[in-house]
Amino acid sequence: MSRLGSPGAQPGPPRESTGPAVTSITPAQALAELSAGNRRFVTGIPRHPNQDAGHRAAVADGQHPFAVIVGCSDSRLAAEIIFDRGLGDLFVVRTAGHTTGPEVLGSVEYAVTVLGTPLVVVLGHDSCGAVQAAKTAAETDTSPAGHLRAVVDAMMPSLRRAEAAGVTDVDGIVDIHIAHTVEAMLGSSAVLAAEVAAGRCAVVGMSYRLAAGEVRTVTAAGDLPDPAADPTPAAA
Ligand SMILES: [Zn+2]
Repeated sequence: MSRLGSPGAQPGPPRESTGPAVTSITPAQALAELSAGNRRFVTGIPRHPNQDAGHRAAVADGQHPFAVIVGCSDSRLAAEIIFDRGLGDLFVVRTAGHTTGPEVLGSVEYAVTVLGTPLVVVLGHDSCGAVQAAKTAAETDTSPAGHLRAVVDAMMPSLRRAEAAGVTDVDGIVDIHIAHTVEAMLGSSAVLAAEVAAGRCAVVGMSYRLAAGEVRTVTAAGDLPDPAADPTPAAA
């Protein structure tokens, strides 16, 4: 089944009706669902849930996605495939280098506050071409033509942070950019920050490995009690 029961889920603010009532799940349960789907994908035994005609009809009247994916547009990063999910499961916003302007933040806020989605994932990946483009622009003090410049400019704070930390390899910069994106979203969206503070939502930064197909948690903000979902050891 695509839904988990959640007796401990905290009630959120009034939600706009977007379809049949469903049992809400916690941020940790949503993360566990994503992790389980990625494991199925990695091991080559995907279930392709919620992709049949019956489910398509069932969700036609409304959506209750359990996770927002703010991912890089890279063609190898298709969210429903790498997390082995189907229709109505994921609310996906993708831009090159997972840059986040007002429209992206507005889309995330819509999912979190109107649809009641309990988890936001910032999804980057190794060998990211957008990060490489920004790295080249920074190193050569040049800017790409056209609107690609906006993408590169949006990534410059991450490039400056990487430079200050002495990180020069693309994959290391990717991790820094993922963490910066999570921080920037929470800093720019008071709505999202309030949902996280209330325990109704969590924001997780993940990095995907193109060849292996697996995701790794880079950073997390919010109520995620599942130790498996948070690589940071509990304080002794
Ligand atoms: Zn990319």
